[in-house]
Amino acid sequence: MNDYHVHTFLCKHAEGQVYEYVESAIKKGVEQIGFAEHIPIRGLHDPDGRMRIDEFELYLKFIKEAQKKYKEIKILLGIEADYMPVHMSFIEDFLNQYTFDFIIGSVHFIDEWDFTNPLYQKHYENYDIDHTYRQYYKLVREAAGTGLYDIIGHFDIPKKFGYRATVDLSRDINETLKIIKDNDLVLDVNTSGLRKPVKEIHPSEKILQQALEYNIPVILGSDAHQPSHVAYAFEETRDLLKKIGFSETCVYDKRKRKSIPL
Ligand SMILES: [Zn+2]
Ligand SMILES: [Zn+2]
Repeated sequence: MNDYHVHTFLCKHAEGQVYEYVESAIKKGVEQIGFAEHIPIRGLHDPDGRMRIDEFELYLKFIKEAQKKYKEIKILLGIEADYMPVHMSFIEDFLNQYTFDFIIGSVHFIDEWDFTNPLYQKHYENYDIDHTYRQYYKLVREAAGTGLYDIIGHFDIPKKFGYRATVDLSRDINETLKIIKDNDLVLDVNTSGLRKPVKEIHPSEKILQQALEYNIPVILGSDAHQPSHVAYAFEETRDLLKKIGFSETCVYDKRKRKSIPL
């Protein structure tokens, strides 16, 4: 069992040091833990959303120390990098500066609105919900086409707070999955939704069925924001993936992907 989506206190809205997540993972029998801290972005005002650029070296240091100390588990250096059209030149340069094991590409923002942040949740009331979903999928398609990412993070995240689209979005979703497949990307099967008002994984079971038809690989992530979240609900999620028909997941090493049995 591997968890490829874990945060730390460094992002300012999570609790716990790198070693505390690692020890929680070891206790739960996790074989690989992939840290995917939110990328710092120059010029983005997001004080509780991510570390500052000058804190990034600390992230690297904590991971390196943990890799030296804990030999019984594989610890990977990943990052969760936003897709934000106006910040892409910074993000691209930043990603190219370091050797990551994997890069998760996530859409958290529509224009200036972080629609995943509970602080700005009430904005859902001010926007057309169907338009919000459509904009989201459009941004995911753009993200998938950049070639910068390995994994698409928490697909269908606009449902997080329970706001549902009122129209059928199958066409948008299908088109998006097709582009994910064409660009050889993997879907983060993210259990954080089970801890949120929506009480569902990302992506939904229905979307995962479509993803299987497209032969899109999947990888499990807890999106842990505290050590106890590591591998959250992984047993039942793995059972669900098997029931849908998935037989494989994947692992990374310096951005090289390998399939392994689920
Ligand atoms: Zn976070
Ligand atoms: Zn995220």
